[in-house]
Amino acid sequence: MNKDVIILGAGASGLIAAIEAARRKRSVLVIEHMKRIGNKIRVSGGGRCNFTNLHVSAENYCSSNSHFCKSALAQFTPADFMALLDRHHIRYHERSDGQLFCVRTSEDILSVLQREAVSQGVVFLLGTKVNKMRKKEFFEIMSDRGPFVSESLIVATGGLSYPDLGATNLGYSIAREFGLKVTRLRPGLVPLTFDKNTADQFRDLSGTSLNVEISCRGIRVTGGMLITHTGLSGPAVLQASLYWEEGDRISVNLLPDTDVSGFLTDNCRSRAQLANLLASVLPKRFALRWTEMNNISRPLCQFSTGEIERIAEDLQNWKITPAGTAGFSKAEVTLGGVDTRELSSKTMESIKVPGLYFTGEVLDVTGQLGGYNLQWAWSSGFAAGQHA
Ligand SMILES: Cc1cc2nc3c(=O)[nH]c(=O)nc-3n(C[C@H](O)[C@H](O)[C@H](O)COP(=O)(O)OP(=O)(O)OC[C@H]3O[C@@H](n4cnc5c(N)ncnc54)[C@H](O)[C@@H]3O)c2cc1C
Repeated sequence: MNKDVIILGAGASGLIAAIEAARRKRSVLVIEHMKRIGNKIRVSGGGRCNFTNLHVSAENYCSSNSHFCKSALAQFTPADFMALLDRHHIRYHERSDGQLFCVRTSEDILSVLQREAVSQGVVFLLGTKVNKMRKKEFFEIMSDRGPFVSESLIVATGGLSYPDLGATNLGYSIAREFGLKVTRLRPGLVPLTFDKNTADQFRDLSGTSLNVEISCRGIRVTGGMLITHTGLSGPAVLQASLYWEEGDRISVNLLPDTDVSGFLTDNCRSRAQLANLLASVLPKRFALRWTEMNNISRPLCQFSTGEIERIAEDLQNWKITPAGTAGFSKAEVTLGGVDTRELSSKTMESIKVPGLYFTGEVLDVTGQLGGYNLQWAWSSGFAAGQHA
């Protein structure tokens, strides 16, 4: 079968690219190895799809080429995606910090994308495995459903996270086969794990959450932190994982909104146990464990001024060296990817291999938590769809 454009991957960026290329009257075939389209869209945002963020800007992305994402983000903005949903009467709302979610479910977005694609004449081949490919004059793709030929090839196969939802390394191997560089790949937006001793100390506190500020490599993030049976999770930890490298120590401010020194000093004559006082600003079980671990289970009036200052400092600077991350099976995204210095930032086309495009998470562009990754998938897919 000959097509103008073949797209590998029916995820967020592949679907938008398909719709846009077909709108330009290009014949488009999308090859997807799973039985359904858009598995990650379906589960994203806890099933309600945090599909964009109103405050999106290049600062919300990690990449070794920090300006690359600007052009695509400007070509297709959150407002453009909202306009698409409005045309289909899909209801959405802002939860916090510009994060937009579906009012009903992620299926609303999937059905919009599917309807748009089908109405533009996009052909889907689901459950289809790509075996080999090469480029002579055209791209030739060998699959278990036969050979396909196209003028343009868009690789929208996503990252390595959540293999159960369809993630493979196909996009990275295609890039390497065509001589493009791939930067170091590692899990991002992922829980961090404790070493065995620390995990044992905190296991029974699993499920406890605190509002914290985490510092990692000079970057500060605030939000919820959840203690799990293997380590730490929650929005602040996932966000910090984008900057964390193996061996790094992170610092957790357990009371970011409190003048801790003043709070302890004000109560320094109290006969109450320190743990009981801390339980008024921290979860009780955590306050108890914290004081036990630090051998400070005493009434406040028994601490010297110096000790109070040290406790205040420790509460604002709990130093932890995570043993690692929970890995790709629990990561929302893949950090690193196809080196964007090898592509046009306007079109997503390879500079070395005309007609070859990469979009979405397979690229070395990773968004923070809060709808930025899907916005990147829409924007980069849109850009490729205008040119492929
Ligand atoms: C649990 C979870 C929750 C998330 N929540 C959010 C959120 O709320 N907001 C947000 O912005 N981001 C979220 N993300 C991240 C976001 O889903 C991804 O960044 C985004 O989907 C990437 O789009 P993509 O098109 O590049 O890749 P994907 O959406 O992953 O699509 C890639 C497609 O390629 C297919 N594919 C892979 N290999 C092959 C192959 N060999 N042959 C054929 N097809 C192949 C896959 O099956 C898939 O359909 C979440 C991710 C996860 C895992």
